[in-house]
This record gives sequence, C-alpha cells and structure tokens, in this order.
Amino acid sequence: MKFAPTPKSGILDIDLYVGGKGHLDGVENVVKLSSNENPHGPSPRAIDAFKAEAKFLNYYPSSDHAELRETLAEVHGLDAERIICSNGSDELISFLTQAFAGEGDEVIFTEYGFLMYKVCTLSAGATPVVVTEKDRHTDVDAILAAVTENTKLVFIANPNNPTSTFIELSEIERLVAGLPEHIVLVLDGAYAEFVDGYDGGASLSDTYPNIVMTRTFSKVYGMGGARLGWGYSSKPMIEILSRVRGPFNVNSGALAAGVAAAKDIEYFELCIKRNAKARDRLAKGLADIGLQSEPSFTNFVLVDFGSETDADAADKLLQHNGILIRAVKGYGLPSCLRITVGKMVDCDRIVSILTEFQKGRAT
Ligand SMILES: *Cc1c(COP(=O)(O)O)cnc(C)c1O
Repeated sequence: MKFAPTPKSGILDIDLYVGGKGHLDGVENVVKLSSNENPHGPSPRAIDAFKAEAKFLNYYPSSDHAELRETLAEVHGLDAERIICSNGSDELISFLTQAFAGEGDEVIFTEYGFLMYKVCTLSAGATPVVVTEKDRHTDVDAILAAVTENTKLVFIANPNNPTSTFIELSEIERLVAGLPEHIVLVLDGAYAEFVDGYDGGASLSDTYPNIVMTRTFSKVYGMGGARLGWGYSSKPMIEILSRVRGPFNVNSGALAAGVAAAKDIEYFELCIKRNAKARDRLAKGLADIGLQSEPSFTNFVLVDFGSETDADAADKLLQHNGILIRAVKGYGLPSCLRITVGKMVDCDRIVSILTEFQKGRAT
C-alpha cells in the first residue's frame, strides 16, 4: 500500500540529523572526538548516583525536579524557582519554539548557529531567519537589523558551536537592550562553563525577563548519554515553558547523577583545567604546522584547511588512524573540521598525524 499521510508544512524541510560518528568499520580502539563529549567521563560520584537509582526504576521520577533545581541554585547562586530541567537542553529549545513560534512567525539565529534551532523552528511551523556572522563571531548589529514585526525568538549560542567563538556579556546586553521586549532572547550556554567568570547570561535575566539561558550536562559534565539540561529565566517565562513540559521529562537516573555531578566541584574544576591545557597544546601544535583555528572558548577547535578537498583528505587520514572528528559541511563550513579536545595523548597524536598530512600537501 502507498504511504498517504502528509506531515504539516515545514516538517519535510527538516534535514535528517547526522550525528558525530561513533565507530569505524574494521578499526578497533576508536577515539571519538566528534561530539564535544568529555573524554574523561562523568564524575565518579555521578556514576554511583546513577547506579543507585537502578533499583527504584519501578517508580516514576520526580516531576518537579526540586532536588536538582535546589542543587543548581546553590552551586550557581541562582533562584531555584526560576530553573526548569529538561531532557537535554535540546528539549528546552523545542519547548521555546513550541511555546512562542508558529505559522507566520520568524525565528532568528546566526549562519553557523547550532542545527537544532532550525530543526525546532521548522517543527513548530515557523520561519527560520538566518543572519550572517562577522569573522565567525555572532554579529549583534546583523541580528538587530533582521528583526521584523513577526520576530518571536532569537537564538544565540555563546560560546558558539561549531565556531568556538565568544562575545562579551556587554555585547549581549546591547543585543537585548535593542530588542523589543516581547521577543524572547535565548542564550544557549552549552559551553558557558569553559569561559572563566562567565555566568551564561544568568544575571542579565534578573533585569530582562525575556531572556532564557540554557545549560547542559552533556559537555564538561560528561553526561551526554543521560540527557540532562536546564534553563534559567524569569518566573513568568518558566511558568510558560512548564506548560509544554511533560511531567516526567527527565528520568530518575539523570536527575540523581545531575545532583551528584553539580556538587562535585573538584571534578568539574579538574575537567576544566585538563581541557584548557590540552586545548592550548592542540591549538598551538596545529598552528605550528600551519593549521589555524580561532582562539577557542570551548572544548573543541575549529580548524580551517583552506579547501573542502583538503579538509576531506585530512578527515580521511584521521579516520584511517582511528580518530573520529566532525566535518562541518552541514554548518556551511566545508573547509573546516571540528576537533573535540581529547586526552593529551589524543591531541598529540592528532598533531603528529596532521604534521605528516601537511608535509604531503607541501610537496
Ligand atoms: C551540545 C550542544 C547543546 C546541547 O545539547 P544537549 O541536548 O543538552 O545534549 C546545545 N547547544 C549547543 C550549541 C551544543 O553544542
């Protein structure tokens, strides 16, 4: 029989998601540096907490996430009443588009913005509006110039993925001050922890109730598999988002692991330190052989090979050596490769493999 159902408009415009590769045929001991995961894994305390939940899987999880919200509030100096927890921060992005954007509405994001902004905008039936960046940095003036009477949401990731660049809080404040106050500004802070002294924009939401900050346990906390994210905003905003949230959207293992991970400051700081050290060595090692990257504020570097052909060849060579990194053609950056900062030994191997690659190019 022929397949007759037709999805609503916009759905078939969504490209199917192609994630970072996880394995290579015929290659053992693959090093996965394609999805910005923490190479050292989660906090041992988070693992224990997750395991301990296993025997209570017959019970539904907490629906108000009170313990996790209170823990996050304490650790980050925030108001627990203004926190919402989600099944990864991806889910929050979808709550936002569901709640604020429909047919005829416009959602603004930048040309190298995170792919989920577009997916969720189209799912909601709204229209994506893509603005250019300036030297691979979020351009506040370009965003402000793109605002129309139909604009409902603006998404920016700061630092951004896949560019690894960061704009100062003063720039974000200039952006929110220039936006009409009915427009929701989403500050995606998936990599906020990697920027020393940056609060992800949480403090700005005290003044601007239309700001939503999103955070995740998938990156520095090493818990991508648990699917845990959270958001911070004004009380009325949290009430709106809570209406579209399923009552049991976060599972009990993730909640318990999240509480333990958030409290394990020592492990968190160790991960931040290790990342900075390995990242600087990787970036410098690559720069020394003529492979430039923007200074990274994240746990990955975006390396420009100058052409798509060379980026493809380098990708192939790394794969041949069991190293998986991320091609970013889907983000409009065909000459670049995004490399997650791995363990120090992995970074050194990448530099050594690409040193040979560069020699081959020069001849
Ligand atoms: C990884 C990432 C996320 C988060 O994803 P989760 O759903 O929390 O795993 C969100 N935004 C950006 C920009 C990211 O890179």
